[in-house]
Order: sequence, then C-alpha cells, then structure tokens
Amino acid sequence: MTTRSKPTIVWFRDDLRLTDQPALHAAVTSGRPVLCIYIFDQVSEGVRPLGAASRWWLHHSLASLDDKLRTIGGRLFLFQGATEAVVAALLRTGIEGLMFNRRYQQAERRIDDAVVDLCRREGVAVEDFVGSVLHEPWEVIPKTGGFYKVFTPYWRAAVAHGPTLPPMGVPGPMAKSAPGPRVEGGPVALEELGLLPEISWDGGLCDTWEPGQDGAQRALDLFLREKVESYATDRDRLGVAGSSRLSPHLRFGEISPREVIAALERRAGSSAEKFAAELGWRDFNTALLFHVPDLSTAPFHKSYARFPFTKLTPAALAAWQHGRTGYPVVDAGMRQLWQIGTMHNRVRMITASFLVKHLLADWRIGERWFWDTLCDADPANNPLNWQWIAGCGNDPVPYFRIFNPVLQGEKFDPDGAYVRRYVPELADLPDRWIHKPWEAPSDVLVKVNVVLGKTYPAPMVDHAKARVRALDALRRHRETL
Ligand code: FAD
Repeated sequence: MTTRSKPTIVWFRDDLRLTDQPALHAAVTSGRPVLCIYIFDQVSEGVRPLGAASRWWLHHSLASLDDKLRTIGGRLFLFQGATEAVVAALLRTGIEGLMFNRRYQQAERRIDDAVVDLCRREGVAVEDFVGSVLHEPWEVIPKTGGFYKVFTPYWRAAVAHGPTLPPMGVPGPMAKSAPGPRVEGGPVALEELGLLPEISWDGGLCDTWEPGQDGAQRALDLFLREKVESYATDRDRLGVAGSSRLSPHLRFGEISPREVIAALERRAGSSAEKFAAELGWRDFNTALLFHVPDLSTAPFHKSYARFPFTKLTPAALAAWQHGRTGYPVVDAGMRQLWQIGTMHNRVRMITASFLVKHLLADWRIGERWFWDTLCDADPANNPLNWQWIAGCGNDPVPYFRIFNPVLQGEKFDPDGAYVRRYVPELADLPDRWIHKPWEAPSDVLVKVNVVLGKTYPAPMVDHAKARVRALDALRRHRETL
C-alpha cells in the first residue's frame, strides 16, 4: 500500500456526531482515505460496563452515526474487544494516522495512552483534540494550584477563562472512505454487539427518545424555540417538560456543548445564563473525576467510607427501585426512570435523598441502579450527584437537609400532574391528598378506589421517624471525625 493510499483512522468514542467533530474534521480535510471506527470495549481493565439503558441508546446512536457518515461518503466500522488488541491488529493492515477526541476518565485515559504508545512504536501519527467539554479539566484551575472543589468559583473562573472555540460544521465530503479491514474483533454488524434487550422492555424509550445527531439538534431547537425563556422557573416544575432533555445526547456526544453554547449565545437573560451554568456542572464533574479518579465508588470525604449504612432487605430495595415506597412523588420518579430511561432532575434529588437518608442505604446502591436505568448515565455526573445528595461529596448538601417528599411534591407538583401520570392508581385523588394519600379521609379513598396497602402501598417508613433516625446517625458519624 502506498503512503498516499493508507487510511487515517477516526476513532469515535463519546462523540457520535459529524458536527463540531474535530477529529473527523481533521481527517476529512487531510484529503486522505478515512477509516471511521468504533470499538465496543467492555473488557479492558477499569472500564465500567454500560448499563442497559445506555446500551439501548448506544445501539441507536451508532446506527444513526453510520447513516450520517454515509451522507458524506463514509461508513462506520464496528469492532469489539480489548481496544489495544483491536488497534494493534488494525495497525498491522497499514494505517497512516489515528485521530480522536480526548476522554477524561482514568481507565479510558490509560487505554488511550497505551494506544498512543502503540502508534508511536509503529510510526503512526496520532492527533487528539478537545471535543466533549467546554473546558478541559486542567484548563480551569485555581491560581494557587490544585483543582476547584466548589462549583461557584469554578464556574466564575471558567467564564473568565474566555469563550471556547466556535463549533465546526460538518466536514466533507470525504475524498475516499477506506474499507474496514478484517481483523480479530471485527468489523462486526451492529446487531452482533448485542446492545438491545433480549426481552423487549424498551417501548417507553423508543416512544420518548430519538438517539443520534438529528434527535439532538431537534431537542436543542425545541428548547430554544419553546423553553429557554422560562427555563429558570420551569426546570423545577415536575409536570412541565421545562428542561432541554439534552443529557443523553450530550453523554454520547451527539451534540457538543460548544454547539449548545453557541446556539444559546444569541440569547440573553437569566434563563440562558442558568442553562449555561448547568452545562458548567457537567464540565465541573468531569474535572473532579479527572482529578480524583476513584470518585465513582469512593466518597470524596473519605470518612464516609466508615458510615454505618443500613443493609436494605431485597424487598425494601425493590420497593424503592420499582416505585412502591408509598410516597407518591418518589414512586412517580422511580417509575418514570423505569419506563422512559430518565427522571426529572428535582425528582432525582428527592428519590436519591429518600434512599440515602430515609432508608439510610449506601449511595452506591442507588448510583448503580441509576447507572443501569438512565439513558444519560454518566461516569462523572451520576456518582458526583449521588455524593452531593448523600453528603459525602466535594461540596455536598448539608447533612441535616433531608428532603421531605410530601412538601417537595406539594411545592413542585402542586396539581399532582406528575404523580398522576406515573402513578395512575392515584390519578383520581384530589390535589389536597395526592402527595399524602394516607392522610385522606376514608370516604375520599373509597370514592377514588384507593385501598392503601392493596391498590397502592402504605408509606414504607414514617417520614418524621426516618428523619430523626437519619439525623442521629449522621450526627453520630460526624462526632467520630
Ligand atoms: P437541563 O436542565 O436541560 O440541563 C442541561 C444540561 O446540563 C444537561 O443535559 C446536563 O448535561 C447538564 N446538567 C444539568 N444538571 C446537571 C447536574 N446536576 N450535574 C451535571 N450536569 C448537569 N446528569 C447526567 O447527565 N447524567 C447522570 O448520570 C446524572 N445522574 C444524576 C443523579 C442524581 C442523583 C442527580 C440528583 C442528578 C443527576 N444528573 C445526571 C443531573 C441532572 O439530573 C441531569 O443532567 C438532568 O436532569 C438532565 O435533564 P436535561 O438534559 O433536561 O437537563
């Protein structure tokens, strides 16, 4: 093979798009043949296997990326297995260069470093780019060194750091798409990755989401057209779809945060600023995990590793997971998650707080459940939000803040629209009782066919008692510090 005909690999990872895709852009504009690959690696050391909802999303996102690449004369070739072995095999087929956008988690960085070494040894040029964050973890740091542990100063510094690069458009068309060389590990057909569920539980996901770049752009357009002006207030209303629903698209890189910010910059106002800051949380968590790589499983405040969590019975855990706690807003959230692979942000806080404070369970149990069931399950955002709620995070909720599921429901879902949607057995209860059916007079319950303990569970714990128990345990723990 002549040097001119040897392909450059574009290695797609958490950046499954054509727009603002620096690695793809560089490869296509080089004029060389381009070989677009994705390696499904669940076996390399330290890689966290994807949860079921993320696997579903990835399947559709890869299909969409392949369709998109074909519009510029390319194709996506899929491989599976240990990344280093797949790349080594590909290099033996004659490769000119390798291009990718950087990742920030420890195991993934280790893999990327090993791949870069491999390429260097083989004389294959490597170029890497920034593609999935506004600022890389080492860009926004305190003047005194180290890293930010609190969001507000981090975001202030990030904003002062200046604008990010403007997003790039779609490159192409490709001079030539290289054929996928046959090596161990692939190419394989998408179905061979086995990402879709064997028994079909994904109807709700299919009805709710459109994975892929087009779906991401449509979600952004809808948000800018109809929601951004009222985002600051509507994002907390449970019965209103007031947020962007961009999180799984961002998680899989179907849209870049730079594209979102660029689209937002044409708007001014407190809602747009609030929304930009939410994207800042995403970068902040990515940076924290970069600087403290064990945060997915270990508390930021190490003393919490000694916290005497309660061991939940399988029945109690199942009641939380499947929305049978007897607290309507908690149950609505957990059922929303199970049905459509997402949960309203405020309800994520309420349900997480219920698990770690009302039930005194280890936050990692809840984190793992969310990891399996959320379409946006993110290696940094998920554990760090859990740690925030559990009180063991970098800048956590004060330990004495225990979300009251009744008051939260009454405040953020005053007409019960959210509960009625996901807990239909309570749909006919008057607003006054929708968040506390156990207080409803018996004639009201009879009228709406609710039999507590039969058609809907009685509360699995008493809020007031659970609160006192949690405060005692947390206070005693703090005294040992
Ligand atoms: P919007 O309100 O429209 O926000 C825009 C974007 O900002 C989001 O898409 C997301 O990328 C980012 N963002 C918003 N809030 C946060 C936050 N608190 N932390 C980090 N980034 C944020 N978010 C995930 O992306 N993946 C997770 O695995 C995840 N797990 C969570 C677990 C718990 C216990 C809690 C309390 C929150 C979690 N979040 C997670 C944060 C938040 O709930 C979601 O990002 C948000 O609900 C997604 O909806 P949206 O895209 O409509 O958000």
